[in-house]
Amino acid sequence: KTFEDCGFAPELMRAIAKQGYEKPTTIQCQALPIVLSGRDVIGIAKTGSGKTASFVLPMIVHTMDQPELQEEGPIGVICAPTRELAHQIFLEAKKFAKAYGIRTAAVYGGMSKLDQFKELKSGCEIVVATPGRLIDMLKMKALTMTRATYLVLDEADRMFDLGFEPQIRSIVGQIRPDRQTLLFSATMPHKVEKLAREILSDPIRVTV
Ligand code: AMP
Repeated sequence: KTFEDCGFAPELMRAIAKQGYEKPTTIQCQALPIVLSGRDVIGIAKTGSGKTASFVLPMIVHTMDQPELQEEGPIGVICAPTRELAHQIFLEAKKFAKAYGIRTAAVYGGMSKLDQFKELKSGCEIVVATPGRLIDMLKMKALTMTRATYLVLDEADRMFDLGFEPQIRSIVGQIRPDRQTLLFSATMPHKVEKLAREILSDPIRVTV
């Protein structure tokens, strides 16, 4: 399998090549075609597998496919358990988003709330966030998620371990039901499985 098989546009192929990604990793081979087809996915994969690109690249395609709307707010929303992971995902998303002028915002603790509020207010198509800080920003009306149609929950098991289940449920409840939802987790404890059953529709399971 190659990245060409995914039907990515030339700009995105160039951005992929620029990263030095020659061929898709195992998780990318399995997940990319399914995610690109618009299906919900449960991905059982660990950090280091290349899982980030398997949801970031289709998110760029998804974002570009949206009609120009007057509406505001992110189209893609990614939640991750820690600021370190959120920052890594943010960097990966930015590399590919840049080629298209898609604006990516990072929203996590340890950074000024006012700065993040201003950044969100100035507009973005993609937001990468830790659940607690995203809730803070939603309460402050820094953004609305009425336009969001692509949701990723990364390292769902760790988000549960850190007690973020209520925040995750609140975030999911604010995103339209006709969204595409991807849930990645290293393990699938009962609580995560239950959430997946509730918030994903007819998901395809990918395990590496
Ligand atoms: P991740 O598991 O998403 O954290 O990715 C682990 C590392 O692999 C990151 O440094 C990525 O930039 C890199 N990576 C992701 N996909 C590929 C690929 N297809 N070829 C080479 N490196 C990759």
